[in-house]
Amino acid sequence: MNIDVELIEKVVKKVLNDVETGSSESEYGYGIFDTMDEAIEASAKAQKEYMNHSMADRQRYVEGIREVVCTKENLEYMSKLAVEESGMGAYEYKVIKNRLAAVKSPGVEDLTTEALSGDDGLTLVEYCPFGVIGAIAPTTNPTETVICNSIAMLAGGNTVVFSPHPRSKGVSIWLIKKLNAKLEELGAPRNLIVTVKEPSIENTNIMMNHPKVRMLVATGGPGIVKAVMSTGKKAIGAGAGNPPVVVDETADIEKAAKDIVNGCSFDNNLPCIAEKEVIAVDQIADYLIFNMKNNGAYEVKDPEIIEKMVDLVTKDRKKPAVNFVGKSAQYILDKVGIKVGPEVKCIIMEAPKDHPFVQIELMMPILPIVRVPNVDEAIDFAVEVEHGNRHTAMMHSKNVDKLTKMAKEIETTIFVKNGPSYAGIGVGGMGYTTFTIAGPTGEGLTSAKSFCRKRRCVLQDGLHIR
Ligand code: NAD
Repeated sequence: MNIDVELIEKVVKKVLNDVETGSSESEYGYGIFDTMDEAIEASAKAQKEYMNHSMADRQRYVEGIREVVCTKENLEYMSKLAVEESGMGAYEYKVIKNRLAAVKSPGVEDLTTEALSGDDGLTLVEYCPFGVIGAIAPTTNPTETVICNSIAMLAGGNTVVFSPHPRSKGVSIWLIKKLNAKLEELGAPRNLIVTVKEPSIENTNIMMNHPKVRMLVATGGPGIVKAVMSTGKKAIGAGAGNPPVVVDETADIEKAAKDIVNGCSFDNNLPCIAEKEVIAVDQIADYLIFNMKNNGAYEVKDPEIIEKMVDLVTKDRKKPAVNFVGKSAQYILDKVGIKVGPEVKCIIMEAPKDHPFVQIELMMPILPIVRVPNVDEAIDFAVEVEHGNRHTAMMHSKNVDKLTKMAKEIETTIFVKNGPSYAGIGVGGMGYTTFTIAGPTGEGLTSAKSFCRKRRCVLQDGLHIR
């Protein structure tokens, strides 16, 4: 019998490697592991290897991620699955958001080097990887977060272990597999992006405490942001918001109304940046409401129906009821006995300052309107109702002094003037995008450099040429 020793050696080597790293041909495949420990070990191994790849390679991998996401069938499939699995948001918006995350998240060009040269030589300050990053993703933007975090973290030379929300695990795992398959095809180390087959709070805790995870990035509510910040590791927290929009008497009311309805109804109000309450100066409030209604808002005036809605969509008037988060205006109205068509994009009502719809980050297209006597009171209340999140706020005004006053006082990471909230993440507004907006820890709109360490490299005396 002829024994092909070379072939046997090859197979044994591959099996051993697969056992060690998680195989692309294993039961789950392409970066999906049984346990969090295995996922992290594979990620650490991949990161070491990744350090030997060039910046041009990294950019090729970024382009590979973009290509996977923007391929029509992938984009449509993941957008559909995200809505079906999480029960939140709307397909058409998920398509826009996923493509946006792929196309407008910066790659290696973000890593600009600082150089100092002079009589004493040359000093470089470069953005270098942390290593293995643990990234926690929300259920409201499951794939968008995986896309923009993967691009930014890999561009920065890191590898990433994801902890998706259990409610959107299927679509997250599907996407991670697709991305890894493409990266392998491009010659990248295996397992640059990994996760576990059963994401859970327990697995997230293992990840947060694992010594090989050098940085934690939490995109989610206050609980998880606090959790990562309490680990003693470098942490980036992208937390909750409750974005107010102020409209004063100098604003272009027709445009303000349209922008507010469009911003508030984007992906059924899921984005953390979306308009969550309007604060309107009395003088223009009626005209604003009239124009909002002309742009797809449905006004509810009956106090009984509003009360019914409060009972339905909140948990004890303190939190949003999860089964209504990201649902459409049509769906919500139907549940209180009002039949409308899909042309209704959001539900509006006048409300007092202490109303639960004003105070809670609802994440559904219900937009309360608080009437105030003047712009100064509007700004004061906007600051109050933003609850110190310092996340996002909008203002429609032509008064530069008042725009400046609100921007200064509210101290939000994003402040949009005379536009819809999404202009703040690069949709019809200047600038790149991200779905990880880090207010609490101060990185702002995160990009590759946010996930890097600054390191100084000094050459004494030489290499200055002046
Ligand atoms: P969430 O806080 O319930 O969950 C976020 C992630 O953290 C999930 O993966 C979840 O499994 C995990 N998690 C939550 N509590 C945990 C704990 N105690 N231990 C371990 N893991 C835990 O939030 P969500 O409902 O998925 O997302 C909506 C929230 O996220 C909103 O408050 C929204 O404003 C915020 N958000 C912020 C940004 C931003 O960029 N700042 C972006 C998107 C969403």
